[in-house]
This record gives sequence, C-alpha cells and structure tokens, in this order.
Amino acid sequence: MSGDGDDRLVAACENCGSVYAALEHSDGTIRPIGSRDGCTACGETAFTPLPDFEDDSKAAGAGDE
Ligand SMILES: [Zn+2]
Repeated sequence: MSGDGDDRLVAACENCGSVYAALEHSDGTIRPIGSRDGCTACGETAFTPLPDFEDDSKAAGAGDE
C-alpha cells in the first residue's frame, strides 16, 4: 500500500460530539470524509480522534479481557 499521509480514522466533533469517519491529513488536520468544511452539524473544524470502533457483533466473546 502507498500512504500519502492521510490516515482514515473515527473522530468526534469537539463542539457537538458528532462522530464521523474521517481522514487525518499529514499536517495533522482531521476532516470528516466528504465534508472538508468540518462538522456538518455545527461547522466545527476541531475533531478528536477516537479509538477504532469495531463491530463487536461479529466477534462477540472473542475479545474478553
Ligand atoms: Zn459539530
């Protein structure tokens, strides 16, 4: 795979908490995929990266600690 520095991740809007599939660009900015202007709900442009959300339903019981 060739990486251009854009990492796909899940991020939450710092203002309203809306969660988006997003891209973290090589300069550190995070933008929701398909919404370069920021949060579609409130227009915020600051996002907090979230840990990967895996769909537990397809791996139920496999990740118990
Ligand atoms: Zn927002």
